[in-house]
Order: sequence, then structure tokens, then C-alpha cells
Amino acid sequence: MSKVKVGINGYGTIGKRVAAAVSKQDDMEIVGVTKTRPTFEAKTAISKGFNIYAPEGSFQAFKDAGLPVKGSIKDLYKAADIIVDCTPGDVGVTYKAEYEAAGIKAIFQGGEDHSLTGISFNSTANYSESWGAQFSRVVSCNTTGLLRTLSPIDKANKIVSAYVTLVRRAADPGDSKGGPINGLEPTVKLPTHHGPDVKSVMPWLNINTMAVKASTTLMHLHTVVVELQRESATEEILGIMRASPRVKLVRSGSGLKGTAELMELGKDLGRDRSDMYEVVVWEDGVKVVGKMLYYYQAVHQESDVVPENVDCIRSMCKLEEDASASVLKTNISLGIDR
Ligand code: NAD
Repeated sequence: MSKVKVGINGYGTIGKRVAAAVSKQDDMEIVGVTKTRPTFEAKTAISKGFNIYAPEGSFQAFKDAGLPVKGSIKDLYKAADIIVDCTPGDVGVTYKAEYEAAGIKAIFQGGEDHSLTGISFNSTANYSESWGAQFSRVVSCNTTGLLRTLSPIDKANKIVSAYVTLVRRAADPGDSKGGPINGLEPTVKLPTHHGPDVKSVMPWLNINTMAVKASTTLMHLHTVVVELQRESATEEILGIMRASPRVKLVRSGSGLKGTAELMELGKDLGRDRSDMYEVVVWEDGVKVVGKMLYYYQAVHQESDVVPENVDCIRSMCKLEEDASASVLKTNISLGIDR
């Protein structure tokens, strides 16, 4: 069977990780990535063997920088079966008509609205909804993390309501423009957009969210309070989490006290870019009292959506019908515990 040909539009934080992850699969391959300018990222993409496609107006700049360009962004559409659009939020929408005209499939990211595609994707919660679709959208990093824990809990013991406070990283580590660099900034438009984003995949879920931006770059941290339909026990919830894909249980008592130690663990595990693809839950911070469940989880915003993009390609391109088989295949390739 020939491999599905994947193009990446936008080779930044998410795009370069998706390109690396796709390259590790045996049923898909990268045919090219786009760069708008001849930056260091364009140079490293070439050194990794990726073809560069660029806007026609920038060909001379690439030539001056000594970086070869394979063609224009529209030429990439001819070489690819599917584009993973990893351009900044609200830029992907400007490309949809071009993908449509070229007759190719495209995956958008969480920075675009659900209404752009009408389908949003998460491997655990709704893999099959994107089956054969021309367009889908992998939800944001925070939404991905929430769906990975809330969806299996809801299947086992219906969630009456969920209340989540998101302590958000202010910027990605490679971003010198973001902020705040000192202080905490509450998001005053309430409830925040995170709840509706979770509902784009689990429309029946009663979820309410608030958010605070914190001066850290490493990870987001969620405090989650869930009211369950029936009384439960801490051990029952831990059992559900242990059986859920891409949920990593750690113990604060083992020295993994916070996000700093978690990212150190990512380095020790020898992952690409020391990424932590799983949502991380503190086992000793999970507590059930009657029908109320409390837990904390951490989200590595740069990487948790990466395996979901790989699975989304499989669903849209009809490579694997069984969600758990795709998840397992992706997990093995990326060194994620099964
Ligand atoms: P980024 O800024 O790191 O990368 C975007 C890339 O797109 C850059 O290389 C930029 O040069 C390029 N680009 C800009 N305009 C372009 C254009 N018109 N055509 C082609 N390329 C263009 O952004 P990111 O953090 O990788 O985010 C990409 C998407 O993923 C957004 O929708 C974002 O909301 C979502 N997302 C980001 C994170 C995160 O924490 N970084 C997590 C999950 C999802």
C-alpha cells in the first residue's frame, strides 16, 4: 500500500513536531513543509530532509540565503494528499478555499474555530467522526488534555458537571514576544472559550471553565472538579485513568512535584525535543468524596496534539478504522506507554 502524502503548511511549534511524528509512521510520509521566510527553522527543515515550499514572492530571499525551494505553496497541494495546516490561529481559515479548490484534504488546529470544519477531533473521544472527511480540526492543547480524562470518566460514570480552572503558560519556550513575564493575568471574559471547545467534541457535557495566564513557559496546569452521577471511589477513577490512552499517572511523592520536574522527566525519557505527549495526572492528587471528583493535570502545550494529528490523518484518509489500533501504532512510534 502506498503511503499517504502529507504536506505541512506552517513549520512552527506544532508543524515541525507533526512533521517529525509523521516521518516515523510506516503508512504516511512528508512530501514538503512551507516556510514564509528563510529562517533557521527553514534551514533545519532542509537538514532533516524536508522539501521547502514557499510563497512565490519569497523565492529570491530563499535564494539569497542559499536555501533551495522546491516550489510554491500551491505546488505543495499538487504533491500532497492531505495538508496539516499548522499556521497561526485565524490564518488557517484564509487557506481553506485554496485547499478546497485543489481538491485535497486538510486538518486545521485549535487556533481555528470549530465552525470552519464542523468536525473537531480527539483520538480518545471521537476518532471515527473524522472518518473519510475532507476537513477536520484537531482541538487545542488544553481541550485535548481535558478530553483525554473527561471522556473516559464520562463513559464510565456520567458527568453531571465539570468545573475547570486552567493555569495557562504565558508563551511557548521559543517565543520571546509573549507574556506576562511577571504576574498572573485572569481571563475576564467568562466563562472562557475552553468549555465550548470541549463541547465541540462532547456537546452534551456540562463544563464551565475559567483561566489565568501565568509567567511560565513549560506547561499548562488544570484544576478539575467533577460532579458524577453516582458515588465513586478514588481507586475506581484511578483505574479508569490507568486504562485511558495518553494519560500518564505520576506521583508527587516521587519528586515530580510540578511542571518543572515533568519537563525534566520528558528529557530523561529521551523523547524528541523532550516532549511530553501525554496529559499528566498527579495520582496522589486524585480524590473522590461521594459524587465529587477532584484532580490536577498538566498539559505540554507544544506536543500533546501531535499524536492526535497523526491519528486524525489515519481517520480522514481511511488508513485504520479502529481508533485504538491507530492510537497504539502512533504511541509505539513516539515512545508513549501503551
Ligand atoms: P507558530 O507561530 O509557532 O508557528 C506557525 C508557523 O506558521 C510559523 O512557522 C509561521 O512562520 C508560519 N506562518 C505564519 N503565517 C503563515 C502563512 N500565511 N502561511 C504559511 N505559514 C505561515 O504557531 P504554533 O504555536 O505552531 O500554532 C499553530 C496552530 O496550532 C495554531 O492554530 C495554534 O492555536 C495551535 N496550537 C498551538 C499550541 C501551542 O501551544 N503552541 C498548542 C496546540 C495548538
